[in-house]
Amino acid sequence: MDQLILSPHLDDAWFDLGGSITRWRSAGESVSVIDVFSIQGWMRFETLPSQLVTSIRKREEEKNAQRDGVALDYLDVPEGAIRGYNLVFPQTIDWSRDRVTLRHILKLLPERMHFKNAKHIYFPLGIGGNVDHLLLREAAITLGQMILGRGGSIGFYECFTLGQERSTSSGTTGGKGPHVLYCGRRGYVGLRSKRQKLDWYAGGIRR
Ligand SMILES: [Zn+2]
Repeated sequence: MDQLILSPHLDDAWFDLGGSITRWRSAGESVSVIDVFSIQGWMRFETLPSQLVTSIRKREEEKNAQRDGVALDYLDVPEGAIRGYNLVFPQTIDWSRDRVTLRHILKLLPERMHFKNAKHIYFPLGIGGNVDHLLLREAAITLGQMILGRGGSIGFYECFTLGQERSTSSGTTGGKGPHVLYCGRRGYVGLRSKRQKLDWYAGGIRR
């Protein structure tokens, strides 16, 4: 396997890296996706039991994978909403609740075939502050050592989906809080603003 995307939720890999997936595949590279928090409970227009939401969204994900020739795997960790987080962003990791969740992910991922075989592994940056994205970014700290140690590489991608979720037509969130990348209602706002937010984020890492 050449490329592996660690996707917090069903859909994230395609929303955030769909262009890369297409490019890699047309260059003949193999691509796999592991959906980590793949027990899901939320849909935009419906209130349905988690079991049904998960099965609908998995079927959609499998269609994506089939169409693009991508290998797919699920870790089946319940998403944040099911673990008791409110759907208000940015979220912060509640370590009393999620230390065990992170440990679980750190144990499961290295056992997965696609993880073992991948050369390049991509983690979410967590921009937008979804707790599941943040946890997976945390996982990169430990897993990154392992991947680099065996001669692989790691990369980080923007969480475009949540950025879009928080979009406003003026293009900012009013300076309160989240340093979010977003898609304005009239389309994507552009690289300059993106650059600024990433610089801010990089500064945050160094602190
Ligand atoms: Zn997500």
